[in-house]
Amino acid sequence: MTQRLSPGDTIGILGNGQLGRMLCLAAARLGYRTHVFGPDTDSPAEQVASVSTVADYTDEKALAAFAAAVQAVTFEFENVPAAAAAYLAAHTKVRPSWRALEVCQDRTKEKQFFASINAATPPWRPINSLKELEAALVQVPPPAVLKTARLGYDGKGQAKILSLKETEAAWNTVTDGKPPKTDAKTQETAFAVLEGFVDFVCEISVIAARGQDGKVVCFEPSENVHANHMLATSTVPANITPATAKAATGIATRAAEALDLVGLLAVEMFVTKSGDLLCNEMAPRPHNSGHWTQDACGTDQFEQLIRAVAGLPLVDPARHADVVMRNLVGSDVDNLDGYLADPAAHIHLYGKAVARPGRKMGHVNILKSKT
Ligand code: AMP
Repeated sequence: MTQRLSPGDTIGILGNGQLGRMLCLAAARLGYRTHVFGPDTDSPAEQVASVSTVADYTDEKALAAFAAAVQAVTFEFENVPAAAAAYLAAHTKVRPSWRALEVCQDRTKEKQFFASINAATPPWRPINSLKELEAALVQVPPPAVLKTARLGYDGKGQAKILSLKETEAAWNTVTDGKPPKTDAKTQETAFAVLEGFVDFVCEISVIAARGQDGKVVCFEPSENVHANHMLATSTVPANITPATAKAATGIATRAAEALDLVGLLAVEMFVTKSGDLLCNEMAPRPHNSGHWTQDACGTDQFEQLIRAVAGLPLVDPARHADVVMRNLVGSDVDNLDGYLADPAAHIHLYGKAVARPGRKMGHVNILKSKT
């Protein structure tokens, strides 16, 4: 049954980075208050939220006060500690549920999940030791990439293997010189995965939103270009055939349904020369490759998530312009004059005081008439 929040109700957001900030802004437009919870002071989300708790995710006392102060909880990242997710689920409505988080926290589970919904992935093997890595490289030969199963992002915890000579060095990089401990709890997963390196034509992602009534609405696929292991641009429309676009939104829809998700699911995929789609990873939250929706669509990814959490109907996002989203990383943010003078450029800054190299400081959506 749909549980609709009332105007003035408070949505709790776990995480206080830029995604949380943009969620707060979308919630405010629909008349909701927000309460953000995270470990950082003077965070991007804290600057715009109605209430902020600065505490560690393991702080049960702070979690209890947070759960009592909100009518529903969502989050801006998937690596929520299991204990925190369980605690909140027992005390308030959490959307999406733990199941979606759990699958997306672990590359092994994620790949098994893709297989279960009949979505292809690059060839892969679970890896727990250097010996297993050596054996796996016979079936998944170089070029390949070794990735930690958990907690990797923006290229961290990854090592490319271009020839067998690089096997041990890759293992040392990914384990940071410390052999992984395996215990009973992690038996169903693995420390790392070895993936075949895909000679892709392009990378795309689809963001699906699913409401409490089970209705799924997808944004169009964006074509994503990475630089230094980080998203640099997202372009819509993507340079793919209508059949590929349909297949991609089909995968995202199946994934959201199979997870029984209420909220957003971003699915990243590689497009091969033959037009096949290989799923890379997914995230059950707003995604950097969905920021283009803020200025090119009637309803953006952040509003769709707030609608889902609040039990409001989801709408067709209806793209009205072509768009390139460009991330503003590090000192990019010091050179905004060109964008400030361009009426087609819509600037979004995250309120971060220090522009460290590699830090996402904002993004700009550059619109063009729809082709
Ligand atoms: P990930 O952390 O898995 O999202 O990887 C970050 C980026 O590295 C991807 O968006 C790709 O550009 C590249 N990459 C990761 N895995 C592969 C792969 N198996 N084949 C080709 N490129 C990859």
